Amino acid sequence: MATTSAALVVTSPGATFERSTIERRELRDHDVLIDIRYAGICHSDIHQVRDDWGGTTFPIVPGHEIVGEVAAVGPAVTRHAVGDRVGVGCFVDSCRECEPCKDGEDQYCLRGNVPTYNGRDYDGEITYGGYSQTIVVDENYVLRVPTSLSYEGAAPLLCAGITVYSPLRHWAAGPGKKVAVVGLGGLGHMAVKIAHALGAEVTVLSQTLSKQDEGRRLGADHYYATNDKATFKTLSGTFDLVINTVSANLPIDAYLGLLRLNGTMVNVGAPAEPSEFRVFSLFRGRRSLAGSSIGGIRETQEMLDFCAEHGLAADVEVIGADQVDEAYERVLRSDVRFRFVIDVATLASA
Ligand SMILES: [Zn+2]
Ligand SMILES: [Zn+2]
Repeated sequence: MATTSAALVVTSPGATFERSTIERRELRDHDVLIDIRYAGICHSDIHQVRDDWGGTTFPIVPGHEIVGEVAAVGPAVTRHAVGDRVGVGCFVDSCRECEPCKDGEDQYCLRGNVPTYNGRDYDGEITYGGYSQTIVVDENYVLRVPTSLSYEGAAPLLCAGITVYSPLRHWAAGPGKKVAVVGLGGLGHMAVKIAHALGAEVTVLSQTLSKQDEGRRLGADHYYATNDKATFKTLSGTFDLVINTVSANLPIDAYLGLLRLNGTMVNVGAPAEPSEFRVFSLFRGRRSLAGSSIGGIRETQEMLDFCAEHGLAADVEVIGADQVDEAYERVLRSDVRFRFVIDVATLASA
């Protein structure tokens, strides 16, 4: 039987959130029904609710940083049991047959994976995300949340955490490596923590020094303001890896100049407008300019286990269901330390 779930819904671009209900599908053989406890607020939720990227299907229920408890399982489920602490990230299915899927890089599925919300299941049903009491997901796309991680601290790991963990691992951040993190928001604060735990020497590059104390507390060894031109001279040719978490257009040539021989600048934040850079900036020092998108299911589990082992979680501000519109305004002003997480229990009491 399909289940009805309370949810926060936006019915048109620019509208505010309303309490409403959505239907979750009847459990298929491999499905897991999850009682959601917390859902993180990702910047991409805001873009899609406002239809900034075009193509949003309304009504929309955002949320792809989901943690909760298994409430029921389909007859063939083997990976999860009722009562397990679990999470769901940015996608809920992939083709499972293409080369990236077979290689465990299902975030790069060639058919296109099924986004957790504002997407369509392969059977055509519109997907609704985590700002809701329950969700039904195939067991292969459900992560185990280790008991040492709090639900609220774990939620943002499902998008912000894996989005920075994947490039840090791919480009081998670790002892002897110098890593710069550009921007100290939801993504950036996790990049600092994870890069530090991996053993890299971590530098934060932020517009001003206003978050310097927090940056050092999170694990940064150095902290520089990018509004100070001297920063780019001082740090010229320094880094093995620059992780850019900023979604505004930056002067890319200036940042490429910070890379040492064979260094790479990886973008995980996406500006809406095209970016410009000079190829000469890459010639010097055989530098690379790259991008990276979230992470696969296998690597997301690895990231959760790594965070549990190292005592890492997101720094969060927990809010109720009626505070989401206000939280969006604050995210847009960068007024959050460092991620908002919705206490989904507050959806029940109207
Ligand atoms: Zn996200
Ligand atoms: Zn695939």
